[in-house]
This record gives sequence, structure tokens and C-alpha cells, in this order.
Amino acid sequence: MKCEICGNKATTICPRCYRYVCENCIDPVAMYCIDCSSFKRAQEEDYIRIVETLRKKIEFIESSMEKCFDCPLLKDEVMRSMRILKELEVTAKSEGFENLLDKILSIKDKIQNIGINYLVKFKMRSLESG
Ligand SMILES: [Zn+2]
Ligand SMILES: [Zn+2]
Repeated sequence: MKCEICGNKATTICPRCYRYVCENCIDPVAMYCIDCSSFKRAQEEDYIRIVETLRKKIEFIESSMEKCFDCPLLKDEVMRSMRILKELEVTAKSEGFENLLDKILSIKDKIQNIGINYLVKFKMRSLESG
């Protein structure tokens, strides 16, 4: 079989696009062909950008928690951020995006704490108001 990228003797099959590829055309780290691995890298960078945006948002939520506790938007943002992060974590694990996973884990505790704080405060409030 010939490498479907450069035409040399193929040694393996890319697990993502199922093309025959030679050892020069496979990324030894990702184990994908060079086309797929560059696509995957771009994809991971894209996700990392989302996580960065999320991190800024979470920091903002944290700093405005006291004064904006009653803002309905804040609660939506907390819930939404938790959901996005959870989805990205699943993606990072199934795709083997190590860098992305690191970034996610570095803010996961923070957003979970905010979520818990929020629920506790919310409960306290409703108890106080009867
Ligand atoms: Zn491929
Ligand atoms: Zn090749």
C-alpha cells in the first residue's frame, strides 16, 4: 500500500481519516496523520480559547457575586459556565486533549465552588425570608 499523502510505502492507517500513511506522514505524538493532527491541534487551540474566555467570566462572576447576587443573569452565567466546562471536559477526555484538560481542571474547582456558594446563599435567603 502507498501512503495516501506522499506516495511512499505506507506503514500504518490513520485512526481518524482511515487513510494509509507512511511513518513520515504520521504525527508520533497524536498518532494521527499530519493532516488530521494539524486539524486536531487547531481544534484544541480553539477549545482552549473558549476555556480562557470562560475563566475570565468566572473571575468576573466571583468578584461580582456579592453585589449582583439577585441578578438573574448571574445565575444563568454560573449554570451556563458549569455546563460548558463539563461538555468541554468530556470532549478533552475523549479526544485526548491534554493541554485543554489541564486548563479545564484549573478552573473547574473555582466554578464548582461558585455554584455551591450560590446554592447555599440562595437557600439561606429563602430560609430567612420564610
Ligand atoms: Zn488522518
Ligand atoms: Zn507519507
